[in-house]
Amino acid sequence: MGDQLLKMLESRKDEMIEIRRYLHENPELSFKEEKTAQYIADFYQGKDVDIQTNVGNGYGIIVTIKGGQPGKTIGLRADFDALPIHEETEVPFQSKNAGVMHACGHDGHTAYLLILADCLIQLKESIPGTIKIIHQHAEETPPGGAKSIVESGVLDDVDNIFGIHLFPTDPAGVVGYRSGDTMAGRTYFKLGIQGVGGHGSSPHKANDAIVAGAHFITAVQTVISRRINPFDMGVVTIGSFDGKGSFNVIKDRIELEGDVRYMNDETQQVIDKEIHRLASGIEAEFGVKCELTYTADYPTLYNDPDMTALVKDSLNEMNDPAIQQVVEFPKFSGSEDFAYYAEKVPSTFFFIGCKPKGVEEAYFNHHPKFDIDEEALLVAAKAVGQVVCSYYDI
Ligand code: MN
Repeated sequence: MGDQLLKMLESRKDEMIEIRRYLHENPELSFKEEKTAQYIADFYQGKDVDIQTNVGNGYGIIVTIKGGQPGKTIGLRADFDALPIHEETEVPFQSKNAGVMHACGHDGHTAYLLILADCLIQLKESIPGTIKIIHQHAEETPPGGAKSIVESGVLDDVDNIFGIHLFPTDPAGVVGYRSGDTMAGRTYFKLGIQGVGGHGSSPHKANDAIVAGAHFITAVQTVISRRINPFDMGVVTIGSFDGKGSFNVIKDRIELEGDVRYMNDETQQVIDKEIHRLASGIEAEFGVKCELTYTADYPTLYNDPDMTALVKDSLNEMNDPAIQQVVEFPKFSGSEDFAYYAEKVPSTFFFIGCKPKGVEEAYFNHHPKFDIDEEALLVAAKAVGQVVCSYYDI
């Protein structure tokens, strides 16, 4: 079936590009992807599949393709939400929704998967098993869509899940894989510090929340440098420190927000404990009141070694000009809610180079000038199609 599928995908490359451009022009934010979900559901109208809409905590869609014979069930996942970014590319199909942009390539993920799904539907009699296409909403905004889709039970019969991400570090034709811990887990925190306001001339009658907050920010820098095993990775970033006031008024309350990343549970626990301890320390040291909200969201993405080997070997064995290089990728400190699928069943998430032609260094995902080489859509479709064929040995 492999060759037939690859030929079918090739003949529909223009359609993938067309879909990607339509989605790019019409981006919607996480949890608000009503029209995008409708577009996806409409695509499957009249096709011989079972379709479930509004899955999970948003507009998730599960399309079930039952093969000709019974067998294992795999999931193929693509996300479809966009970001609150004002597009600055000069493409003719620029976002029509001001301030919203497909700046992470999820338009491309959905475009390739729709066409691949359609081809698999046409070839389904040859498939010894079931394929569940997971069109996932809200990857970008915690709590994300993946967790709720898993919890809904629609994937309880799935044995393994595969997903890809477009990545502009490499040109189209490069596929990156990684076994084991691959992308970081993430925690969000918010610290409110309540002091006592007062006149700038009389600090002794007030209790300055800005000074307490500044000490917290400085102290928190020691968590990574002094508490984490040097062979592990961890990040603590304070991205927001709301201390805006007036020059001669002592601020009674400040709020700061931060982002924590890690590659394993132990590091996660150390950082969690230390940040809590520093917050209580600031209370004791400065006599302020601290309210700490500390919420772990996406877990570390762990790629199953067997599933990753299947991707690597099947792509290395295939002789197709679209896939030129299959390389091991380094760990990446970004986070992905695909991690929830990988927690549930052995899965792997791999990377499709999409660096635009003629540029030395591409704008990275989430940049207002992020763009892709659309050749990467066919690469993604062929790579995932090949993985499906290898998985079922067809
Ligand atoms: Mn993304």
